[in-house]
Amino acid sequence: MAHVSKCVINTYRFYIDYAIQNEIAMPTPIPKEIAIIGDGYAAAVMALHLLRRGISGSSIALVGPRVPGKGNAYSCASSFFRLNVREDLPIIFSEDPLHFARWAENNVNDPESKTDAGYFYRRRDFGDYVTQLLQGTPGAMQMEHVAARVKRLLPADGHWIITLEDGGNLCANQVIIATGNAPPVWPCAVTSSVQSSARMVENPWPGNYLDGIPRNDHVILLGGGLTALDAINALAGQDHQGMVSVISPRAIFPPVQALWKRSKQPQFPQDLSPRRLVRFMRNYLPQVSTDSVQWQSAWEELRPPLNAVWQQFSPHQRRRLLKRLGWIWSLYRFRASPQTIAAYECLRARNQIQFILGRAKQITCSESKVNVLMSSGSELVGDWIINCTGVGSDPLAHQLIQSGIAAPDALLQSIAVDADLRVINPDYQSHPNLWMIGPATMGSLGDVVASSAIAKQAEQLAQEIAK
Ligand SMILES: Cc1cc2nc3c(=O)[nH]c(=O)nc-3n(C[C@H](O)[C@H](O)[C@H](O)COP(=O)(O)OP(=O)(O)OC[C@H]3O[C@@H](n4cnc5c(N)ncnc54)[C@H](O)[C@@H]3O)c2cc1C
Repeated sequence: MAHVSKCVINTYRFYIDYAIQNEIAMPTPIPKEIAIIGDGYAAAVMALHLLRRGISGSSIALVGPRVPGKGNAYSCASSFFRLNVREDLPIIFSEDPLHFARWAENNVNDPESKTDAGYFYRRRDFGDYVTQLLQGTPGAMQMEHVAARVKRLLPADGHWIITLEDGGNLCANQVIIATGNAPPVWPCAVTSSVQSSARMVENPWPGNYLDGIPRNDHVILLGGGLTALDAINALAGQDHQGMVSVISPRAIFPPVQALWKRSKQPQFPQDLSPRRLVRFMRNYLPQVSTDSVQWQSAWEELRPPLNAVWQQFSPHQRRRLLKRLGWIWSLYRFRASPQTIAAYECLRARNQIQFILGRAKQITCSESKVNVLMSSGSELVGDWIINCTGVGSDPLAHQLIQSGIAAPDALLQSIAVDADLRVINPDYQSHPNLWMIGPATMGSLGDVVASSAIAKQAEQLAQEIAK
């Protein structure tokens, strides 16, 4: 006990010096044992698994602006935004894979969730599940929730000083970064004659823009992935009658999920190069439709060992693989719910949807119209433009790289982590008390975007920290 007090006093002296030198507000004197930065799904499952491992709630601080658990993916307002996986796939507890399926059966009233490929529930219901799960975990009420965004993270005397956007500070012995998918930003120049236009939706993930779209308006979707399909499902659901134009380099959407099942374990060859990997995968996949159970089962059989293969590749090989084949991977990896594809087919049958091939170069918005100048020089005029181009970049990761605390990952998109999820510094040493989990670890670890992959990381890290 005496040792603890002395340590706290020394640490506090250091903070006073640090605060004076850096002209920041006085930090919290007593460090929290663990701070989790983020308020989304990853932060919630991280906290949940730490509590389950016996870590006391009072030693954990969750730092993020909203109620933990929903984040960018599951806090959406629209009832048309559905999970893109069936009910048995979002697995939070590896020993109880059907936990969510049971919860949904007992708690969700959603007759439209049922399809031939399984139950595809609304994303907001999954968000409720995660939030309730965390709130019901013993110890959760003792956790501190700091409702603010983190602006800066700096090491100090073996601890971490977390500076909040509102100017406050806190301090922690161990930090887990779970800041997830940064919201989308416009991928091209934007000019607007009105100060801020509701016709231009930069971040469509919350889904709250949809109610305001008049039925006959021409809607432009910039990007052709799952976010565009979410918008299409919602527009069809609210009986939209106007044209929907999808700007994309290719006139193709991800396929519909089939009722696939893994029944074999492919034997990957040793010493794979990216080229040999692609050849092996191509040979393994049957020559049938990508919508079929047979093709999707084979694809899913290939996926589990791929992270280990990815981690063996050099950063250069990873970047080359992603540049050449990233779009094919995204297309088949992120398949869509049957409800969403049915909505697309419905608009197609009514000739209400068109692909505009290419990339947008500039968007100009006036009070009544949106004009998109394409790289080809052609122009497209509509009433609304929705940015469906995917994940933006995380300012906190950028700060850590700029401050020389973290090395960039192989894809130069986030920060590098080792196989134990420890953040790697620019000298390629792992920080002993700084971790990151979630989709931003993809460049280092592979396909860790889905909810079940993130929960697995949280289980692994909680076990490590509890040791
Ligand atoms: C629109 C969308 C739909 C998806 N649908 C599915 C699906 O159907 N099935 C599936 O398995 N996966 C889906 N995913 C994949 C997704 O990666 C994971 O399921 C999971 O939601 C990621 O959780 P996360 O907490 O890491 O990220 P996020 O959900 O992005 O949450 C991160 C949170 O951290 C907060 N934050 C960010 N920066 C800071 C900061 N500096 N300080 C404090 N807080 C900060 C943000 O406010 C945000 O709420 C989807 C992803 C998106 C974006």
